[in-house]
Amino acid sequence: MYLEKIDGGGESTGHGLIHAVLAFLEDQRLDPTPLNYGFAYRIVSEPAGALAVEVARRTDGGIRLTGPEVEQLGNMIDALAATVAVTPAVEPAPVPPGPVAVAAAETAEAAALVTETLRQVAGFATMVSEMRTETRDFGRDLAERADALERATPVASAGTAIAELARITAAMRARVEIAEARLEQATREASELREQLAAAHDDARRDPLTELPNRRAFEEAVEAITQGPVHVAMCDVDHFKAINDLHGHPVGDRVLRAIGSTLVRECPGHLVARYGGEEFAVLIAGIDVVEAEVLLQRARIAVGERRYRLRESDTLIHGITLSAGMVTIAPGETLLSAIERVDALLYDAKRQGRDRFVRQGDR
Ligand code: GH3
Ligand code: MG
Ligand code: MG
Repeated sequence: MYLEKIDGGGESTGHGLIHAVLAFLEDQRLDPTPLNYGFAYRIVSEPAGALAVEVARRTDGGIRLTGPEVEQLGNMIDALAATVAVTPAVEPAPVPPGPVAVAAAETAEAAALVTETLRQVAGFATMVSEMRTETRDFGRDLAERADALERATPVASAGTAIAELARITAAMRARVEIAEARLEQATREASELREQLAAAHDDARRDPLTELPNRRAFEEAVEAITQGPVHVAMCDVDHFKAINDLHGHPVGDRVLRAIGSTLVRECPGHLVARYGGEEFAVLIAGIDVVEAEVLLQRARIAVGERRYRLRESDTLIHGITLSAGMVTIAPGETLLSAIERVDALLYDAKRQGRDRFVRQGDR
């Protein structure tokens, strides 16, 4: 509603703004102190801003703001600035990074992104406190002019005081416009950075060849499960080195991708990860051990039955099989210990002739 007063005046915008500021102070029965002027100015000049919205919410239904509320709301911006940073925009302080930053910082690209984000945050803080100072100065100047206006007896000096008020207000409006543009630009950059950080976070957990979750993502997923039986299966491609030797590394890569997608298709709702070179891990949760073993055996056989055809020569690659093992993590057991147990089962499967699944009860 204060915006309407500004735009609907039809006269000089400076005067419209002053009227709106004064109307706000009058409506709210607030004293014409520099703090209150600055506060009112922020509300009428940014009717869609966070402060104006919060004030509208609090004053809904004709409730008036109290002095302490003005103080508290005004301090919101200072508080924001204080929480984020203290140093100049160019040299961000070594803020201890949170878990996301630590994880992402493990790649060089992500580390650069984290630094850039900290720089952004520091820049934001500087910008916000600059705006706050300017608003405060403006409130003080305005109050001085308003006092002069009140004291002015000859009409001529009242006119001068009004002209001065208009000038101060216009200057402030111009500065606010510049600040708004800077803020908009900074907000855009911040959201781009957020997206890049999210992408870096995802990259750190995905195998680029198969596009499956990697070992790290697998370990995090296991740790994240807090209840119910958790089964860990490991599948290793048999004689994979021979496939590379016979057909070349790029064909080996394509075979790995095909095996990954078969396992994903056969284990819906469970996590298939590329654990290492030609080893795939499957995290099976939410079903009992017998169902898990049936699922894994079916997936393993599906890989062996799939036809792998070389597109260059249209010839079939025969004999691609998997050896597999599976264990259920015991209560209190670490993932490392479960992986050692599953590796032992895998070793048994290889020794017994490959292309087979060794259950934990078979040992
Ligand atoms: P085993 O049945 O005993 O497991 O024999 P294997 O040949 O599969 O095992 P070995 O550990 O001797 O060899 C694994 C091979 O997997 C060697 C390595 O070059 C290949 N490999 C690992 N990662 C990749 C990859 O990303 N692409 C391709 N093409 N080959 C890979
Ligand atoms: Mg292997
Ligand atoms: Mg192998």
